[in-house]
Amino acid sequence: MTETVEAVLMTGLGRPLERRRFPSPRPRPGGAVLETIASEVCGTDVHLHHGRLSGVPYPIIPGHVSCGRVLETNGPLLDVEGRAIETGMLVTFFDVFGTCGNCWHCLVAKAATRCPHRKVYGITTSAEDGLLGGWAERIEILPGVRVLPLPYGIEPLDFMGGGCGLPTGFHAVERAGIAMGDTVVIQGSGPVGLNAAIFAQLAGAARVFVVGAPQARLNAAKRLGAEDVLDIARVPEPGDRAKWVHERTAGRGVDVVIEASGNPSAVPEGLEMLRDAGHYVVVGQYTDAGDATVNPHRQINRKHATILGCWGFEFTHLYRALEMMARYNARFRWRDLVTREYRLEEAGQALEDMERLAVIKAVIRP
Ligand SMILES: [Zn+2]
Ligand SMILES: [Zn+2]
Repeated sequence: MTETVEAVLMTGLGRPLERRRFPSPRPRPGGAVLETIASEVCGTDVHLHHGRLSGVPYPIIPGHVSCGRVLETNGPLLDVEGRAIETGMLVTFFDVFGTCGNCWHCLVAKAATRCPHRKVYGITTSAEDGLLGGWAERIEILPGVRVLPLPYGIEPLDFMGGGCGLPTGFHAVERAGIAMGDTVVIQGSGPVGLNAAIFAQLAGAARVFVVGAPQARLNAAKRLGAEDVLDIARVPEPGDRAKWVHERTAGRGVDVVIEASGNPSAVPEGLEMLRDAGHYVVVGQYTDAGDATVNPHRQINRKHATILGCWGFEFTHLYRALEMMARYNARFRWRDLVTREYRLEEAGQALEDMERLAVIKAVIRP
């Protein structure tokens, strides 16, 4: 009798999740198999469940950022420093694979996150192709997927407290080009916004303001070092929110705004919070939630603004963000952002809780 393992499948737009058993996987040459310890439930999974992302090969096993213990490898497997990945190690892995390094996007534009061959665990991988998502008892590490051992002192739940928001927030801060002493507004207090608030400070920002909701997430922002927070539910008028920022910056606005809210109307609102010649980074519009109207004269041209998009993250962001977590975990305690853990059979509940923002970071523990 072959051993089987359980996984949760998302079969399509709005359909209930299914649990299915799969034959226990064996590693392909150059690959590995992990025993899943934890996998995240993030906003992406909610979007996936609503069919808001194009090109998703349902049925999929969700869970794109995960942690596990190495059960088995097939052939030598090395981390990026050349150290052997061995059975029993606690690891995570870069969820993106297949980036070709050989196309126009990779070679000419040097925009690897826009490579058309890029695939992502738990998002663009079908359950027909194997256990390629974290909502399962095992995860198959395909040949070429970059595995990272968790640094000394970092446990799976510390890492999962950051989740995909960790490298995404890191990347957004890198794009923003924050200088020492800068003032920063983060729009959105979800995991990406909270990690952006952390990395903005580590990049040298003197003052960070977080505009978001609900209160529990804003409390987390304060704990993580935000000087002040604004609850958008209490201040519903965008003009009043911009005024709140201007009152705290001598009427000028902030040097940098990072949009991590997912709401298109946050963009014109955030441009009003930006000082002349400031930098504005859009990282929150991961799905197409619609259009927004900006005033190109007042908000961009005359303001002399720099506006940047930020799509996905590269291995370098995950690697360096993890190094920063290892160094600063005592200060930021990422693990405290995990406000609830769920078993595989509770995945549907986890999605619901995520959608109504009842949790900060939800984690599946198979
Ligand atoms: Zn490419
Ligand atoms: Zn995610």
